Amino acid sequence: MPEELAFTPASELHQRFLRGEISAREIVDAYLERIKQVEPRVKAFLSLCEDRARRQAEELDRSRSAKEPLGPLAGIPVAIKDNLCVKNHPATCASKILANFYPPYDATVVRRLEEAGAIIIGKTNLDEFAMGSSTENSAFHPTANPWDLSRVPGGSSGGSAAAVAAGEVPVALGSDTGGSIRQPAAFCGVVGLKPTYGRVSRYGLIAFASSLDQIGPFGRTVEDCARLLQAIAGPDPQDSTSIPEKVPDYCGGFTGEIKGMRIGVPREYLGEGIAPEVRETVQAMAHRLAEQGAQVEETSLPYTRYALPAYYLVATAEASSNLARYDGVRYGLRVKAKEAKDAMAWTRKEGFGTEVKRRIMLGTYALSAGYYEAYYLKALKVRTLIKRDFDQAFARFDCLLTPTTPTPAFRQGEKLKDPLAMYFTDICTLAVNMAGLPAITVPAGRIEGLPVGVQFIAPPLMEERLFRVAWVVEQIVGFPSWRPPLEVRA
Ligand code: GLN
Repeated sequence: MPEELAFTPASELHQRFLRGEISAREIVDAYLERIKQVEPRVKAFLSLCEDRARRQAEELDRSRSAKEPLGPLAGIPVAIKDNLCVKNHPATCASKILANFYPPYDATVVRRLEEAGAIIIGKTNLDEFAMGSSTENSAFHPTANPWDLSRVPGGSSGGSAAAVAAGEVPVALGSDTGGSIRQPAAFCGVVGLKPTYGRVSRYGLIAFASSLDQIGPFGRTVEDCARLLQAIAGPDPQDSTSIPEKVPDYCGGFTGEIKGMRIGVPREYLGEGIAPEVRETVQAMAHRLAEQGAQVEETSLPYTRYALPAYYLVATAEASSNLARYDGVRYGLRVKAKEAKDAMAWTRKEGFGTEVKRRIMLGTYALSAGYYEAYYLKALKVRTLIKRDFDQAFARFDCLLTPTTPTPAFRQGEKLKDPLAMYFTDICTLAVNMAGLPAITVPAGRIEGLPVGVQFIAPPLMEERLFRVAWVVEQIVGFPSWRPPLEVRA
């Protein structure tokens, strides 16, 4: 498949399909070929949905010939993180415990994507149950960063980020509990958005920490992310936490107009632990945005330093409860034993990986009698203070600008034996989940060939504002023309 087609933005691919320059079937075949070319090196996917994709493509081609109305994503191939349910197709969560799980229904986001004409092409790799920051916790195989195959793509949605960066798909979905869309998007040089908590239905997302989890898009352009969000956002009777508010138009703000936009740069995000080059990238971007008429000012979010410990209490507590359902009885792996309690224990021992077990133990401890007040309840109080910090900042600013990650992508294996070092890679993203806010990461430059992202954070439901400012960054940086060094043999 020609590189030029592999790196075509989704919005343009859709136009070409509408104009009849390419059929949906040709699009699917071309991307499946591209996937076969680069997958041996990138390993972004856990499974492909070839039959479903071809069927959807043929249906689209038929609709187009019959001049039937076509959806806003017609002809666009999409990859789906493997913790989202696609009916009758494996949803493993990159865990042995779900290796044989075939969900009997589609996640709401999957249904909405297909209704909009998108083509589900495959399921992408992740850290087991989305717990991790490097995709090395997958029970099946790690994924490589397309910019440097010896480095991690980030995580936990590393497969989706790598697939988009490598031109295997123009867009993908991931989930973000503490940074799992934004951190891998930054490491792989693509755009990633974590929507406001409740903006996108979680029905059919296999739960990690339900009060933090949110589904969101990856793309190589800001507009592509906006189009994807447009299709998946909105209330859903199947998810009681989904927000009833109407979905605004996300694709109308690409005017370059940010004059007077008040952008706060919290100093806590530029201090200790942030690589100097990353700090400089953020400061340079702040300067460029000020040149375009934004009012950029330093600010402070004093409770930032407590975000990491509080997150790891709330997230593990919820995970320990959510993962109690994997008992070998209803679905997934079952290790047989004479006694029911042995069957349950052995199934969990055999089925879960080290990091998942660590989280279940931490969370169970934080919720246990005697420690509940000291740990879990305390973390909830800190969560309120973190939220208050943001509320106060948004009284003065339209959005906040921070780094997305403290460093560019690290080497495979580098942090595997040090869970705290791994947790620390989400230091810039997790407070946003604790506060339920929307945030976007956009590539802002490259350091020694590796992409670096900047993050914008907005008040609840202000995704449109994030797209507007991110689009300006896109014009400044020009990242849609970036190509990772993945030369493909003809
Ligand atoms: N890396 C963080 C964690 O391990 C966030 C993961 C996520 O957002 N799913 O919990």
